[in-house]
Amino acid sequence: AAKAAGKNRFLRFHPDMMTALVQRTHMEAGLQLAVARGEITVDFQPIVSHRMGQVVTFEALARWDRDGGRVPPSVFIPLAERTGLINEIGAEVMALGMVQLAPWLNEDPSRSLAVNVSGVQLQEPLFAQTVLQLAEASGVAAYQLVLEVTESVFFDADCSLIKQLSTLREEGARVALDDFGTGYSSLGRLQDLPVDTVKIDKTFISMVRTGSERLPILSSMINMAHSLGLTVTAEGVETAAQADYLAALECDSLQGYLFSLPQPGRRMEKALQQAEEALTALKDR
Ligand code: C2E
Ligand code: MG
Ligand code: MG
Ligand code: MG
Repeated sequence: AAKAAGKNRFLRFHPDMMTALVQRTHMEAGLQLAVARGEITVDFQPIVSHRMGQVVTFEALARWDRDGGRVPPSVFIPLAERTGLINEIGAEVMALGMVQLAPWLNEDPSRSLAVNVSGVQLQEPLFAQTVLQLAEASGVAAYQLVLEVTESVFFDADCSLIKQLSTLREEGARVALDDFGTGYSSLGRLQDLPVDTVKIDKTFISMVRTGSERLPILSSMINMAHSLGLTVTAEGVETAAQADYLAALECDSLQGYLFSLPQPGRRMEKALQQAEEALTALKDR
């Protein structure tokens, strides 16, 4: 279009661009208001251990309900990252997660709470300290925390980021590499990263359809992670065939709609029961 404009080589500001800009600014203002009003909430999704037959972790997922509709995290998290609001949202999700799950966590030290952490948050020099303070204030042990980060945070990892993660790991918290397999880093780079767990992205899990196919990529990912001393979680497990397949590959933990949808804290008991029933049904197959 700029070229068609002939001698005028400047890209014209098209009305559609204006609309997009206005929409984004509107959404940004809405998010800022929602954060200030405490309208960001969390849902929890169980992660189960096939071997132990129980729920071992709950992952906290941020929620924003706006004018009766729900804005998906895939929309508002990137927006929050661009505007810096992610620091507040991240702290809120962490605090809500800890407070709501503290009673469940306190019952059994092997249980954990997983929270997604953006690279922007890890740039904050006080990040690790804030997490540890929140844990202390809510009576949750640091070793019961799992911080989920994506491979991209390590892409141009500076020592500050590594230091934040190391501090938390020294206190016993674990780090999980989320959406594993979708990033740029190779399997070979895994051994250099300060992580304890890999979460295999759901795109790989969805490749299991019948359960009798050969998927060397899945078994390689799991074996490689194990040989490096890491544990493996599969995300997006939707069918019994997928769960059986992953259990046969000795995948340590499973998460997905087969066990439970993400649920608000008040429905946690229901989510627990549903997930454990799904596990029992797998054993009975
Ligand atoms: P994620 O951390 O990889 O979380 C898993 C996503 O997959 C969640 O989407 C969950 O609802 C969905 N999911 C769970 N089981 C299944 C399944 O069986 N099938 C399918 N198709 N999907 C399943 P959600 O809640 O929309 O979150 C999307 C992403 O937004 C998250 O991906 C995470 O990267 C980000 N996110 C969510 N909450 C936060 C947060 O508090 N902080 C940060 N930094 N990111 C967050
Ligand atoms: Mg996650
Ligand atoms: Mg994930
Ligand atoms: Mg994911």
